[in-house]
Amino acid sequence: MTPKQMRITALAGGVGGARFVRGLLHELRAVRGDQETEVVVVGNTGDDITLFGLRICPDLDTILYTLGGGIDERQGWGRAEETHAVQAELAELGAQPQWFGLGDRDFATHIARSQWLGQGQTLSQVTARLAERWGLPGQGVRLLPATDTPIETHVVLDEAGADGSDAGERAVHFQQWWVQLQAAVPARRFTVAGLGQAVPAPGVLEALRTSDVILLPPSNPVVSIGIILGVPGVRDALRGSRAPVVGVSPIIGGAPVRGHADACLSAMEVEVSARGVAGLYADFLDGWLVDEADTGTVQTPRLQTRALDLRMRDEAGAARIAGAALDLAAELSVQRSA
Ligand code: GDP
Ligand code: CA
Repeated sequence: MTPKQMRITALAGGVGGARFVRGLLHELRAVRGDQETEVVVVGNTGDDITLFGLRICPDLDTILYTLGGGIDERQGWGRAEETHAVQAELAELGAQPQWFGLGDRDFATHIARSQWLGQGQTLSQVTARLAERWGLPGQGVRLLPATDTPIETHVVLDEAGADGSDAGERAVHFQQWWVQLQAAVPARRFTVAGLGQAVPAPGVLEALRTSDVILLPPSNPVVSIGIILGVPGVRDALRGSRAPVVGVSPIIGGAPVRGHADACLSAMEVEVSARGVAGLYADFLDGWLVDEADTGTVQTPRLQTRALDLRMRDEAGAARIAGAALDLAAELSVQRSA
């Protein structure tokens, strides 16, 4: 009898999730010589947006490009060696919006995705085709959207009247708040269109139920991981999982490493800290990696915490963090079976 194939499932947003998963693969394949373990990545689709008639899935694309070696490393998203002829032409035409950066190579992804979706394929099927293009199956990776149901995160903002008075509220697409407004306008709350009726994509719940380890990369806890957890059934699957769930804090010393996670946490009235984020996962989290700067700040009875340098400066650095997450998961598994 051949031993059962090991499986690791990670829930991921964009840049933080993608860099962590790339490190995890490096740790497994290059450092530990493990070519067998399957890595299932459940990607956030709340950031998805339709622009110029094209369906854009920023977080899934960041994972595809990062794992496939096509990412713009400096920026963290979009394609390397990118040009912007189409966007310049759209600007000449006065086509809106112009605040969302789209390069020519990146456009090809959105064109193909939109065509395939238009032919009736599900987002899972489309994502699998794109994953082939980027060589994910060959790396032992299965990338699943959290859901095939179209969902969109919206941000509810204060609407000030012309005289500065409170004129109620308005909602904008998450991307408009994040990219155009740079999250500088305080969010009252987030609402996710379609989330209540969303169905986990094929394989998502099964992966969570049958995994040996479940990892939460240092992705945005509110608008990346929080959205995946909001897909009906996902949170329950995590609560009931036999696998240890180990997370990596995206907050170091009270601030996000990049992006505006602080603005997201503030809107939820959650402390911007490793402890605050752990609290969002309290009902299912078993292990939590915090930065050395946060040593001793997270102390809850059933949560095992380890402190180490959590900055993913390069692939080897991300691999080291992923290795620490796997080590902690292994310890937790031994404790459970004892
Ligand atoms: P996005 O969808 O592109 O915003 O990416 P994610 O949601 O996957 O990840 C964003 C989060 O990753 C932010 O809250 C960052 O603080 C966190 N992050 C980015 N780089 C690092 C890093 O090197 N170390 C840690 N611990 N967190 C990071
Ligand atoms: Ca994102």
